[in-house]
Amino acid sequence: MLCLGIEGTAHTFGVGIVDSSGKVLANSSKTYFPEKGGIHPREAAQFHSTNARGVLNTALEHAKIEIDDIGLIAFSQGPGLGPVLRTAATAARALAVWLDVPIIGVNHCIAHVEIGRLTEKAKDPVTLYVSGGNTQVIAFDAGRYRVFGETIDIPIGNCIDVFAREIGLPHPGGPSVERMALESKRYIPLPYVVKGMDLSFSGLMTEAVRRCRAGFGVNDICFSLQETAFAALVEVTERAVAHTEKKEVMLTGGVAANKRLREMLNLMSEEQGAKFFVPPKELCGDQGAMIAWNGILAHKSGFKQEIKETEVKQRWRTDEVDITWRRR
Ligand code: AMP
Ligand code: MG
Repeated sequence: MLCLGIEGTAHTFGVGIVDSSGKVLANSSKTYFPEKGGIHPREAAQFHSTNARGVLNTALEHAKIEIDDIGLIAFSQGPGLGPVLRTAATAARALAVWLDVPIIGVNHCIAHVEIGRLTEKAKDPVTLYVSGGNTQVIAFDAGRYRVFGETIDIPIGNCIDVFAREIGLPHPGGPSVERMALESKRYIPLPYVVKGMDLSFSGLMTEAVRRCRAGFGVNDICFSLQETAFAALVEVTERAVAHTEKKEVMLTGGVAANKRLREMLNLMSEEQGAKFFVPPKELCGDQGAMIAWNGILAHKSGFKQEIKETEVKQRWRTDEVDITWRRR
C-alpha cells in the first residue's frame, strides 16, 4: 500500500509518498518566503495552491508511480495557520474522493516524532521538537504523546528569525545566527526564562534586539542568544528525561540543524545515560513523508475517518490524539 501525504501547516507545501514498510519513495516540497516581515497566512496559502500541482507531479515522478497506485491519502490536519491548513485539506479531500481511497488527517507535531522513530529506529524517545512554529518536549505515556514542556509565547525558531530580521539579517535567521555565533565566545547575560517545565523566548528576543541596537557586538549577541535559549531547552528536556526515565532523546524540527544545540543535547543525553538521535536534515523540517508515514501507521491500526471529520484544527494539541498504533 502506498500512502500520499500532504503537508501544509506553515510556509512549506510538501508531498511525500511512503509504502507500508516505511520506505520513502518521494518527498517533494516548495517553501514560501515572505518578501518582508513574517509569514502572511493568506499569501502562504496562495503560494501553496499555486504550487500544489507541481509538487504533486514531481513527487509522482520521483516515486516512478501513477496517481492511481496510491491507496491512502494523509494530510496535516493541524496545528497550523488556518488558510494554509485548509488548502492542504482541500487538496487531500479532492484526491481521496477522486481516487476513491481512505483519507486520514494527521497531527503535524506527532508526524515529526513518528518519522524520526522510523528512520532512527528509536523506540520510545523524549523528543525536543523545535521549529519556526513549534517548541515542545514530547514523550509517550499511557496511550498519548504528552507535552512535558512547551513555549508559552513564541517558538524558538521564530525567536531567532524575528531577532535576525530586526537586525537586518536575511530570512531564515537560524543559519546566519549560528554562523555569527561561531565568531564569539563572549557571553552577555540575556533573559533566561524557564517557568516550571515551560519556556518563554519573547523577552529574550526583545532584549537581544535591544542590546544590538545599543551597540553590543552582533556576534556576541548571536552567541549569547543561542547559549541562553538552548540551555533553557536542554534544561526542560533533561527534566523530562529524568522524570520519565526514558533512555532515548530525539531532536527534530528545522532548528535541529543547529550544531551547537545538537552538541548540548548530546552532552545532556550522555549524562543521563540516554541515546541521542537526530533524523536526517530533510526529514527534520516540514515535509510530506512524515505525514504519509503517520497515515500508514494510523491506517494499519484500523483508524478510519469520514470526509466530514476532516475539518482542519488550527490549535490541535499533541496530547489530544489517541495513539492507536502504539501499545499503552
Ligand atoms: P521549520 O519550521 O521546521 O520549517 O524550520 C524552520 C526554522 O528552522 C526557522 O525558524 C529557521 O530559522 C530554523 N533553522 C534553520 N536552520 C537553523 C540553524 N542552523 N540554527 C537554528 N535554527 C535554524
Ligand atoms: Mg514542523
